[in-house]
Amino acid sequence: MTKDGAVRVCVLGPSGRMGRAVIDAAAGRSDVKISAAVDRPDAPGLGQTVAGQVVVGSDLRAGLAAAAVYVDFTSVAATVSAAQLARELGTPAVIGTTGLSAADEAVLAELARVAPIVVASNFSLGVNLLAGLVRKAAQALGPTWDVEIVETHHRAKRDAPSGTALTLAQAAADGHGVAYDAVKRHGRDGDVGARPQGEIGVHAVRGGDVVGEHTVSLFGAGERLELSHRATSRTIFAAGALRAAAWVVGKPPGRYDMLDVLGLR
Ligand code: NAD
Repeated sequence: MTKDGAVRVCVLGPSGRMGRAVIDAAAGRSDVKISAAVDRPDAPGLGQTVAGQVVVGSDLRAGLAAAAVYVDFTSVAATVSAAQLARELGTPAVIGTTGLSAADEAVLAELARVAPIVVASNFSLGVNLLAGLVRKAAQALGPTWDVEIVETHHRAKRDAPSGTALTLAQAAADGHGVAYDAVKRHGRDGDVGARPQGEIGVHAVRGGDVVGEHTVSLFGAGERLELSHRATSRTIFAAGALRAAAWVVGKPPGRYDMLDVLGLR
């Protein structure tokens, strides 16, 4: 905490799209204050001053020591090594990096044993509400209504399908009462045969500077329901992540998500 009660935040990847958005969003808030900014040793913004008086460095240990919580929107490798150090130091975390494997998730689970962490594939209020609506719709309509998800993102996005699309697909599988891995279909190519009942399809489109769009279609006989979310600014993710940062400090160790932060569980 600072003297005025703001939670001190270390932002990772301050030269990235989301890192910059987090720093900008913090400027308008009194509940958090950027106290450290850490990027990779060859990042373009190293040595620059951000958030008033914070010099961007590459010493993660020093950055975590100067903060009550860190906010991580970087790369899978950076997120895993930050979580390993945070476990050693017991630092709470807000993690938005997507594309993590089961082995990477296990590293986050180790951190969650000693510190509270919020992990979300999407920090926007709208998408978290959408996930609840998708689960309800899939439950109400059942697996005879085919569920297909299409996501669109900017051309620089590395992972596919998006973490948000996977969260929405998981919500649909939950609504159908099945394990997602048993029914998933990521893209179609070639002679894939007729669509089996209960399959959940996810398709990734990449282009331009699209921040993030997701449409979940539920196809019945003679009708179609579409539930969509369009992000037009990264501010929504940054604001959600900072809200999570202020919320998570002081919580018992464990893994939380945005439904916990928003009080929607
Ligand atoms: P980006 O490529 O613009 O930025 C990544 C940043 O991480 C860069 O500044 C890079 O220098 C930094 N970095 C790399 N290695 C590092 C290290 N070892 N230590 C510190 N910093 C390091 O990417 P982006 O568009 O900002 O997205 C980052 C991640 O966040 C992606 O996985 C993306 O899918 C995810 N994302 C999540 C949400 C959400 O709401 N959860 C929203 C948008 C993006």
